[in-house]
Amino acid sequence: MDSTLARKCIEKGMRMTDQRRVIAHVLSTAEDHPDVEQLYERSSAIDPRISIATVYRTVRMFEEANILERHDFGDGRARYEEANDDHHDHLIDVNSGEVIEFQNEKIEELQRAVARELGYELVDHRLELFGTKIKHDKGAED
Ligand SMILES: [Zn+2]
Repeated sequence: MDSTLARKCIEKGMRMTDQRRVIAHVLSTAEDHPDVEQLYERSSAIDPRISIATVYRTVRMFEEANILERHDFGDGRARYEEANDDHHDHLIDVNSGEVIEFQNEKIEELQRAVARELGYELVDHRLELFGTKIKHDKGAED
């Protein structure tokens, strides 16, 4: 059974080797936003023949085919996530590095309006919010 990412590769006419299938599977099943090191760890745990160079080449290939999104969450490491139709944006906790996904229709509409005012139809956007968790005052309930 192929992962959704592997199916998209096949649709795009890519030749799918066993190693590419493993990397596609790891990406498709990831619930976080792994970097290349993490992808390498998870992929080589399934198939020890997979090298980090293969992971680099494969993610670049998936990215160029627009089936994989690369994110920069401000720590200098590229993070990857399968491109899919249900769009979301990210909030990054600058202390813990935790990445929280969110959707906000007001922001989406505002971005379309800004592009429209500038004479453009919006086709894509990237939005990353960086924050620190608000500490609630313990006395606030009194
Ligand atoms: Zn995400």
